[in-house]
Amino acid sequence: MTDAAGPEGRVELQGIGVSAGIAIGRALVLEGPNVAIFRLDLPHGEADREVARLQRAVRRAWRQLRHLRDRVRSEAGEAYARVFEAQILILKDRSLHQETAALIRREDVNAEWAFHTVVGRYTQVFSQLGDQALKDRGTDIEDVEARVQAILTGSKRRHDLSELTEDVIVVSSSLSPSDAAGLNREHVIGLAIDGGGPTSHTAIIASALGIPAVAGLRDASTRVRTGDILALDGASGLLVLSPPDQETAAWRERRTRQAQRELDLMMLRDQPAVTREGLRVRLQANVELLEEMLAARRFGAEGVGLYRSEFLYLQEAPGLPGEEAHYRAYRELAERALPHDVVIRTLDLGGEKYFSTILERRETNPVLGLRGIRLCLKREDLFRSQLRGILRAAAHGKVRVMFPMVSGLHELRRARAVFDDVRRELLAERVPCDPEVPLGIMIEVPAAALIVDRLAPEVDFFSIGTNDLIQYALAIDRGNESVSYLYQPLHPAILGLIRGVVEAAARAGRRVSVCGEMAASPVSAVVLIGLGITELSMNPAAIPTVKQVIRALSAADARVLAEEALRLDSAEEVEALARIRVAELVPREPQAALGVCP
Ligand code: PEP
Ligand code: MG
Repeated sequence: MTDAAGPEGRVELQGIGVSAGIAIGRALVLEGPNVAIFRLDLPHGEADREVARLQRAVRRAWRQLRHLRDRVRSEAGEAYARVFEAQILILKDRSLHQETAALIRREDVNAEWAFHTVVGRYTQVFSQLGDQALKDRGTDIEDVEARVQAILTGSKRRHDLSELTEDVIVVSSSLSPSDAAGLNREHVIGLAIDGGGPTSHTAIIASALGIPAVAGLRDASTRVRTGDILALDGASGLLVLSPPDQETAAWRERRTRQAQRELDLMMLRDQPAVTREGLRVRLQANVELLEEMLAARRFGAEGVGLYRSEFLYLQEAPGLPGEEAHYRAYRELAERALPHDVVIRTLDLGGEKYFSTILERRETNPVLGLRGIRLCLKREDLFRSQLRGILRAAAHGKVRVMFPMVSGLHELRRARAVFDDVRRELLAERVPCDPEVPLGIMIEVPAAALIVDRLAPEVDFFSIGTNDLIQYALAIDRGNESVSYLYQPLHPAILGLIRGVVEAAARAGRRVSVCGEMAASPVSAVVLIGLGITELSMNPAAIPTVKQVIRALSAADARVLAEEALRLDSAEEVEALARIRVAELVPREPQAALGVCP
């Protein structure tokens, strides 16, 4: 976090934007958790009564959660109600009850302390896992505990945010999903949270409810006082304390402009992405969580071009999803995407998406290690149950399957053999499935990009993963800030690789799309269209802007631009040229919104 003090106590805090939108208003600072839990020894013979007290509290918590779930379902939709479904499941967890009851009986201790001890063991496991998404699941468990403890101790829930009477920006060290769901939408105009990240359920709910939110602000709740004036940008993650009057006026103007711009873009939702001469471009969504399907629909995605299935594994951790869990998740995904299709990418763990339970040991150089299809081939058991789940789910929608990180023909053939075998197995067992599911591969390893003509006869489609293709072709760790200036999507070498893939795929009559972040930048998207790409998959929120640019674009001009770009010497030159051309197309667009790559 960076912060900077300015005139008259003005302070800037930089966090992570988790729900877009601008808010300007007075702060309401919520205090931290207030239930102290003590160990009390029970009089002899009281243990059964104490267990019964715990059970009553759990049942009450359960009723409260069901009520919240129903409320969120009617206000925000099924996907968001699932946050509380997850909490209800935690409460129903038998081992949690049995372990707590056993502890009460074994040590003759009070229910509060026993429950706190047992929950603490669970949250510790989650907090030690490296992945943020998993840490966020730990927050759900803490939220469940706070609810049960409040009932046991008879205290009021920490903050009842449904009773506000004036507009506030809520500032808190942490905000639980249930607190977020209980927000009074009329009066809570923004959220500033010390902890959390974009995958937290609180962030998901804030964005579903359309409340601008910034997380990861570290110590905002201790620096801000209730009543302070704040300005918050939920897209960039900036929070300004006590902005001077002039600045506040500028924020207000931005808020008005942004609201107008969003309205304009949303008007495009049901319009096709088609260039001036009628070239149709397909814009699809990259999705990690099922919840994101709401955003995909809202922004007008034509299906899912990349479903990163590893997030299912991360959600189920420390356990592993079995065939049924795969089937259920993909079936829901496929049904929700109809009438469009979804591309389900098989497990791409490893690399920066490290997952300790599957990998046997930490690797010195994980990005070049056992990741993607290599891991699937090593753990064929996991691969097979995932493929079975996908093929079964495919009977309920339009599904394609895609392998990540393929680097050569031999590897592709091995993976394809497993796929064909699973297909035969399901047919022999007469399990309902779609055996005709198209099979594709990611082109994200430079070696694969250079042999597309040899890979093409063995697959139905290709999707270029520019995030990794750039990383491997330019030898730039995509997560390393020190070399991020060299991460250049418009590098002539990258454009040359993409051009080669497009041409080879066209010769073989295979579809090819781009699903890396590059697709989400209007400037890069125009260059990609000029190179012959007509399918782009990106984070859903980027779709309207890219569509707006495509509708103003002449594909012939884009082709001329791409030809020129391929002859230039550096990414800087290509970017400068492409920016000028794109700015001519959408003159009202601020340059910042045309970024080359997020
Ligand atoms: C890519 O590499 O471009 C890609 C889309 O996959 P991921 O970002 O999940 O590695
Ligand atoms: Mg990749």
